[in-house]
Amino acid sequence: MTLKKPPVEFDFAAELLTWFDMHGRKDLPWQQDKSPYRVWLSEIMLQQTQVVTVIPYFEAFVAQFPTVERLAASPLDDVLQRWAGLGYYARARNLHKAAQAIMLRGDFPNTLPELLELSGIGKSTAGAILSIAFQKSQAILDGNVKRVLTRFYAISGWTGLREIETKLWQLSEAITPVKRCDDYTQAIMDLGATLCTRSKPRCGDCPMSTACAAFSTNTVANYPSPKPTKKLPVKQTLFLIIRNEQQEIWLEQRPLKGIWGGLWSLPEVETIEDAKNWCQQKNLTIQHQELLLSQRHTFSHYHLDYTLLCLDVETSENLNFHTRQQWQNRALPAPINILLTQFTEDFL
Ligand code: SF4
Repeated sequence: MTLKKPPVEFDFAAELLTWFDMHGRKDLPWQQDKSPYRVWLSEIMLQQTQVVTVIPYFEAFVAQFPTVERLAASPLDDVLQRWAGLGYYARARNLHKAAQAIMLRGDFPNTLPELLELSGIGKSTAGAILSIAFQKSQAILDGNVKRVLTRFYAISGWTGLREIETKLWQLSEAITPVKRCDDYTQAIMDLGATLCTRSKPRCGDCPMSTACAAFSTNTVANYPSPKPTKKLPVKQTLFLIIRNEQQEIWLEQRPLKGIWGGLWSLPEVETIEDAKNWCQQKNLTIQHQELLLSQRHTFSHYHLDYTLLCLDVETSENLNFHTRQQWQNRALPAPINILLTQFTEDFL
């Protein structure tokens, strides 16, 4: 790991705050009322998702769950449904669990160790909550900040490596100011999101360029170092589209633990024989079956190769069958939603 020091007279935080005062974003919905709940929610939503996508979800979420209390008291299914489409549903499950923990303790925690005890809150999210909502001088290190710091200090090595991450935390803590820490936190996130972007960074407009190690050595494209690639394993499955005579589709809620936990999805089996047994157990009489298509969905840690098996069944009970309107109101994983939408357009 190399580390090029900026000139001693360069005050990172002061330069950044001056830029923020003129160019920073100040009209985002979660910047209007910086309550711990709203800051926390926005930070969780922004973890894997861009600002423009988050805004309507954030507004709809706080309209339905305006307080920690309301969130904690609501059924998880309602929370997942409101989250549907944002992806990474563990975030919604953790929010709900953490809201209940906050209600149990009686107040919103305002120290790092206490925040870290809550589900889904890591050190960077805790730092953002403490600095923005409680005006405490606490560093953050999200993806944007990692990118800015690796470039500014010309730090090579994948940022997921413990050694690199530790170094970045030290740097982030060293440059986080005591005063105006809330604006500073917003400013460094803004810098990463608007100027020091992943591709085509706008170094010409950047207040850091006079001291930026990567810019001064014309090596911006080298930072951050890419993650070493590894071959993802492949899993296979059969998704069952079980359709009754009223053209309704069978959906069931997945267990809370595991992929798509708590969401509604199509039944999954390994073989056609398993599918027949599955139908028999549910007293569904198969009238017609058809293999529809095979596709791949890639998760962060594996590829899922799936085949769709459509089964027309006869049954005297309603059980888990859903009309189109009913399944559209369920919290479905995005790929299943796309599959069902495509299927109903093509076959119903
Ligand atoms: S000068 Fe370029 S590389 Fe350096 S911090 Fe600014 S935008 Fe990022």
